[in-house]
Amino acid sequence: MIYGRMPARSAWSVNLATQRKNARSKKKGTDEAPIEDVNLSAAGLLYDMAALQPTERSQLGYKRAARAIVTLPVDVSELVASGRLQEVPFVGPSSARIITELVREGKSASVEAALAASRKTSKVEEGRARRNHFLSAHAMERVHAASLPASIVSRASYRGDFQMHSTWSDGAESIATMADACMARGWSCMGVTDHSHGLAIAKGMSMESAIQQQAEIDRLNAGYKGRFRIFKGIEANVLADGSLDLSVEERRQFEYVVAAPHAVLRRMDDQTSRMLAAVNAPGVAMLGHPRGRVYGARGGVVADWPRVFAAAAARQVAIEIDGNWHRQDIDWTLAELALDAGCIFGLDSDGHSVDELKFTDYAIAHARLARIPSTRVINCWTDQQLEAWMSERHG
Ligand SMILES: [Zn+2]
Repeated sequence: MIYGRMPARSAWSVNLATQRKNARSKKKGTDEAPIEDVNLSAAGLLYDMAALQPTERSQLGYKRAARAIVTLPVDVSELVASGRLQEVPFVGPSSARIITELVREGKSASVEAALAASRKTSKVEEGRARRNHFLSAHAMERVHAASLPASIVSRASYRGDFQMHSTWSDGAESIATMADACMARGWSCMGVTDHSHGLAIAKGMSMESAIQQQAEIDRLNAGYKGRFRIFKGIEANVLADGSLDLSVEERRQFEYVVAAPHAVLRRMDDQTSRMLAAVNAPGVAMLGHPRGRVYGARGGVVADWPRVFAAAAARQVAIEIDGNWHRQDIDWTLAELALDAGCIFGLDSDGHSVDELKFTDYAIAHARLARIPSTRVINCWTDQQLEAWMSERHG
C-alpha cells in the first residue's frame, strides 16, 4: 500500500472527518487517505443536499456549486479563511454555509439536519458510495506538484494520449485539430480511438468509414514528417458476455484495439468472467475505463479485479486509467493492485474535444498516487516500442 510512503502530512494537508469515516472501514494501519481533498468533500456534501431537494430546479443550484468547487484551482479552506468563498460562480449563501461548516467543523450540520428530516437517506448514501476515490482539480494539481522519484510517471515523461474521439464518431473535432492540440501540449504522438460500429449511441464508425479515416491519418502522418505520429486505434464495445462488437478480422484493421464496457454497468453481481473474456480476446491491446463507473451516479462493474489484472498482465494488455473527470477509472486504489499484478497502463483523456485533453492530468495523477513507473506506462514509450507492442497484441 502507498499510505506509508506518502510525503509528510502537511504537504497533502489534513484529513477530514468524512474521509476518516471512509478510511475506518479499511484495514487497520492503512486507514489514512493518501491525499486529503477538501474540495471533493465539499462537492460531495453539495450533491448530498441536491439529492434532498424536492424539485429539479432547487437541485440545480447545489449541483452547479458542486461542479464549480471540483474545478477550483485553490483549496476552499483558503477561500473560507479569506472570506472569498462567495466569489466562486454559483456558490450562493446556502452552499457557502455548507462549505464553511465543513471547513470549520469537519462536517456540515446543515446537511445532517436536512438528511435527518428526509426520507431520502438511502438515495444520499448510494450517491456517497459512488463518489469514492475521485480527485478534485486542486488535489490533482497537488499530486503533480508532489516530489516523487523521477522514475514515477509524470507530465514530463508523458508523450501522448491513447484514447480520444474525433468527428469520425462522437467527438467534436477533426483528427487534425486534435493532433494540433496534442502538439501544442508538447506531446509527440497520439492515438485516435473512435467508437466501433456496434455502439450506435456514440455514432460508432462503420468499417468503410474506418478505412477512410485511416487514409486521412496516413496523409496527416506524412505531413508531420516524423515530428509527430498518430496511431490508428478503435474503441470496441465489450458486450455483456465479454465478447466484442468487432470480429477478429475487423480488429486487425487497426494498429490497436481498446476494449471498453458501455452497458450492463449497474449490475451488482460479479462480472469477472465478462472482463476476463475481454482481456483475453485476440487483438485487444487495452482494457478501457474498466469499471465504467460515473461520479455519484454509477458504481460500475463488480469483478475480482486482481484476477482480471493478472490475466491482463500475462497478455500485456494495458489497463487504462481513464482521466475523464466523471470516470477517473480505474482509480489509484485499483491501480495499485494492477501494478502489483504486473500490469502495464494506458493513461488517457478519453477526450471528445480539444478542451478535454486536459483530463490526461487526472489519469497521470491517479497513476502517481499508485506509484506507477513510466516504464509501465505505454504513453511514455517510444514509437518503436509502441509499434512492437501493438503488433504483438494481434498475435
Ligand atoms: Zn468508452
